[in-house]
Amino acid sequence: MPAPPETILVLGGTAEANLLVSRLSKAARAPRIILSLAGRTAAPILPPGCEIRIGGFGGADGLAAFLRETGVTWLVDATHPFAAGISRNAAKAADNAAVPRIALVRPAWEMRPGDHWIAVDCLGAARDALPKGARPFLALGRQHLAPFAHRPDLTPVVRMIDAPEPLAFAAEIVLGRPSADPHAEAALMSECAITHLVCRNSGGAASYAKVAAARTLGLPVVMIARPPAPPPPLAGSVDAVLALLGIDA
Ligand code: NAP
Repeated sequence: MPAPPETILVLGGTAEANLLVSRLSKAARAPRIILSLAGRTAAPILPPGCEIRIGGFGGADGLAAFLRETGVTWLVDATHPFAAGISRNAAKAADNAAVPRIALVRPAWEMRPGDHWIAVDCLGAARDALPKGARPFLALGRQHLAPFAHRPDLTPVVRMIDAPEPLAFAAEIVLGRPSADPHAEAALMSECAITHLVCRNSGGAASYAKVAAARTLGLPVVMIARPPAPPPPLAGSVDAVLALLGIDA
């Protein structure tokens, strides 16, 4: 049994990162926990029981310096499966600082009976997969919308957590967080007369409701595949991370 870790840096911005922090903080011999966020969301949901730091580290070298200076003993990369840059940096920084790292990568969604997915590998391909005059629900986040500006025939609906800067193209904006209730997501898509859902294969339960809603409504889903996973060791769940850390929580 390894000795209990003392200082764990969790790279977050996901529901799993928050769950991990909250489980770690309840361990019998709770380690020091630092949760790191990029700072993309104005009012992020923050778990109790940890220190929070916000903002980039300044690349892999900056992160390696942080690991050394802060005395981090484990790095858990619990970032979003599409946040490939920070995961690359995490792997490099952990190697450079000789700090053990675990990447928490939630399993991707699989097609189920009744699903009609159009599989694409990037945002540009998602845009090009939409038929002329479609009214897509772009469940993508504001930094991923630019390619759709090249399709003036579309009448998209975009959901945003924070009130956005004006978009570069005409779109109806729905303010709010995604619902975990497929019925609520289906009601929203029906009210907005959506013809297609466009989303990334994020995996996990927190944002699956929209995919289930599209199935219920018989809507095609333009599903954008993930970038390559970070290097191993990988854990598919919070429980698997805790097991690798040797923490009973
Ligand atoms: P990214 O492209 O992989 O990262 C860009 C830069 O943002 C990184 O190089 C790093 O800056 C900084 N950064 C990213 N995550 C950070 C973290 N947890 N703590 C400190 N700095 C971080 O990432 P992204 O796709 O913009 O995502 C940013 C954050 O939002 C991530 O934490 C991710 O978990 C969360 N998120 C992303 C998505 C998504 O779809 N991509 C969805 C939900 C949540 P430096 O190089 O200066 O260190």
